[in-house]
This record gives sequence, C-alpha cells and structure tokens, in this order.
Amino acid sequence: MLRSTSGDLINYCNIILSFSCSVNKKALMSRRLHARRLDGIDKNIWVEFTQLAADYKAVNLGQGFPDFSPPTFIQEAFCKAVSGSCPMHQYTRAFGHPPLVKNLAKFFGRVMDRPVDPLEDILVTVGAYQALFCTFQALVDEGDEVIIIEPFFDCYQPMVKMAGGKAEYVPLRPRADSGQALSSADWVLSPEELASKFNPRTKAIMINTPNNPLGKVYKREELQVIADLCVKHDVICISDEVYEWLTYDGNKHVKIASLPGMWERTVTIGSGGKTFSATGWKVGWAMGSGQIIKHLKTVHQNSVYHCATAAQEAVSVGFEREYDCFGKEESYFLQLPALLHHKRLRLARCLQSVGLQPILPQGGYFMITDVSTLKVDLNDPSTEGELYDYRFVKWLIKEKGLATIPVSAFYSPEHQQDFQNYIRFCFVKEDSTLKSAEDILLQWSKRK
Ligand code: PMP
Ligand code: GLN
Repeated sequence: MLRSTSGDLINYCNIILSFSCSVNKKALMSRRLHARRLDGIDKNIWVEFTQLAADYKAVNLGQGFPDFSPPTFIQEAFCKAVSGSCPMHQYTRAFGHPPLVKNLAKFFGRVMDRPVDPLEDILVTVGAYQALFCTFQALVDEGDEVIIIEPFFDCYQPMVKMAGGKAEYVPLRPRADSGQALSSADWVLSPEELASKFNPRTKAIMINTPNNPLGKVYKREELQVIADLCVKHDVICISDEVYEWLTYDGNKHVKIASLPGMWERTVTIGSGGKTFSATGWKVGWAMGSGQIIKHLKTVHQNSVYHCATAAQEAVSVGFEREYDCFGKEESYFLQLPALLHHKRLRLARCLQSVGLQPILPQGGYFMITDVSTLKVDLNDPSTEGELYDYRFVKWLIKEKGLATIPVSAFYSPEHQQDFQNYIRFCFVKEDSTLKSAEDILLQWSKRK
C-alpha cells in the first residue's frame, strides 16, 4: 500500500513536472528568445570542423594553430610569471598590463618610426578576436556600411552584423593576365570595383594582410589605393595583421597605418598567440590614435575589463627580447618564418605530386588549392545540398582521416558559389603531422 502510494506520488510528481515543463517551454517559446542581432550567425566553421576532425581522429591541417611548442624563452617567461608574487595572479591595468603596453609601444614605435603612446594608443584584449569585437562595437553604428575584402577571416561579418552595420564585399580575384594563378600575389582587387563600394554610409574598410586563407601580402602600392580611398571618403581602416611576421620569399609586410595620413584613421589588430606560436594564451591588441582607441576602451571596460595578467607579462617579456635582437639571427620573428618557409614548400610539393595546383602563399599559416579536378564520388546523403568544398572536406575527414577547411567559409553568401572549389590547408604543423598528411594523400592518389 505504502509502496503503491509512494509510486503514485512519484507518478503524480512526474505528471506535474512534465506539465510545468511543457508550460515553461510554451512560455519560453511564445516569445522571441534570442536577440535579432544573432539571426543567421549561429553556425561557426571552427566549432563545426574542429569537432568533426576530433570525432574522426583526423590528421589536422584544418584549424590554424601550431602543433609544436612556443619558443623556450616565452614558455619560461610564462612559468616565471605564474610562479611569481601575488600581483601576477591579480587584476592588472584594465587597458593593458603596464609592462606589456610599454614594450608594444617601444617595439611598434620603432617599426613605424613614429611615437606610440603606451597608455593612449594601445588596448590589450583577449586575443585579436576581442580587439576586432571592440573595434566594431565602438565604431560601427546602426546602418553604417563596412567594406570587407574577400576572402576574409570569417568572424568579420557576424561582428559587423552584431554592431548593427551592413557588410559590403569586394573580392580579390585571380589577375586576368596571370593564366593559372600560382601565387597569392596573382589575386588582386579591381581599384574601380573597390572605389564603387565607397559612399557616404561607409564607415570603415576591413583588410587582412597577410591574408587568411589566401596568404596574400599586400604591396605598398595596393595599400596606397586603399589608403587614398579612406582619406578621400573619411573612412576608418581596420587592419588585421596577426600574421605580420610570417612572410616568405622576400615579401615584406607593410603596415597601412604607416602610410601618410593613415595613423589617424587606422586600427591595427595584433595577436600574441600568432606572434609567439601560443594561440591558447589569447593575448591580442588594437593599436592606433588615442582618439580612436579611447572608444574601444569604453567597450572593453564595460565587457571584459582586463586580460589574464600572467599571459600579458609573458608576451611583454617576448617583445622586450625581440626588441633587443630585432633583425638578428636569434630573433624569433626571423626564425619562425624561416621554419615555416620549408613546411610551406613541403606541403606545396606534396599537393603537386597528387595532381593539385596550390596557390603559393606569400605569408601566413595557410595554403589553398582547387580540388575540382579530383573526381570524387561525394555520395554522403548527410551533406547533400551543401557547397562542393564543404562536401569535399567532410568526405576527406570521414573517408581519408585528413582535416582541412572549405574556402567558401571565407566568402559572403553572394560570392560563396564562385569560390566553392578551393580547400585550405594549415602548414604550421610538426613535420610528423605533415608526413602523415602526405601519406594519406599519396596513398589515395595511388588508388585512384
Ligand atoms: N584574425 C585572423 C586573420 C585570424 O586568422 C585569427 C585566428 N587566429 C584571428 C584574427 C584571431 O586571433 P586570436 O587567436 O589572437 O584571437
Ligand atoms: N584563426 C584560426 C584559423 O583560421 C582559427 C580560429 C578559431 O579556431 N576560431 O584557422
């Protein structure tokens, strides 16, 4: 009897619970839950493909991070910071740990040959991501237009949208006279097309050099065209330069902020993670005239407030060291590109050996190649209706155990169709990882 009563009681409770849950669900669903600014931006290429690569234990040439350790000097600096005294474990200055902003200002002041005020002209952020977020939130208003050059690092578009702005796209295209484009240098902007996008609503233009995913390093003359339009139309330039130390074959990175009249209207974005091969530390910065940066600080102080002290301390030690050995053999800013130069050529040779034509990057972490010549039977019904590169990359992960990234993810919906034949490889990997990828590709090409 007792048992049956308690059983009845449990059943009764379950009924009440499920009733109240369904009432709650109804209550939740009867009103709009998410803010409109999130419409259409819930999918994320890194979340999706990083998980897929992990699920299939694929050799990972997808997400852009080194699978080797950062240099010893910076690891030691981090260890020293975390085993240090109390202040290293507590809040530091909201807009950037004082030694870090001092060293960034000293370092980049010399690079640009102009004074950089450590307290006014720099904001330290949680990676370059947060620097970008603060920039868009601070400068873009409802209805403002932001010109984005394609292909672009995917987060620019949702960040413009979340700020209430409207993105206008201009694609880099293989130069008409270049035949088969073999280098990222062959991908260029049409100055006329670019100029046609500027209008009184244009608030900013977003550039990325060296570019992710193409590897293009803009020449001074190309940047000058952009700078002239910015000055003419009173537009801000947001320049994402997270791969600035990684250029190859004598290509030189030029900072658009260093062109005449551009310091006053440029926000330059940097990443300690990319600079010192420690992407998990998430230390980034925005640099520019204090008149602009003060507005980014307003976003930062009311959202994140400040970034991990010990990681900032380590990045500060790294820049201090690099200042002292700048241009010398022991500089990490020379050693890393020298190391990656070989990995880049190794991957390019491997792709060629299996009949693919890579576009050789002038800079950065990545290489793209057209895969439309590979006749693959993409019969996975779960990917039906998706763009070719998405289907191909999923097939490559699931069937061959090799992870890459579809390049159409770096294009606007308007232009995705036109660029769905390319996939992106990251070559900032151990030689053993590159070897595993080579083995997969070679074995597959032999079987075809
Ligand atoms: N910009 C570009 C072009 C990137 O590739 C990335 C990814 N590292 C970021 C910004 C974000 O950098 P962080 O990891 O420092 O947030
Ligand atoms: N920037 C990295 C890339 O392009 C990834 C960033 C991320 O994982 N969110 O691969």
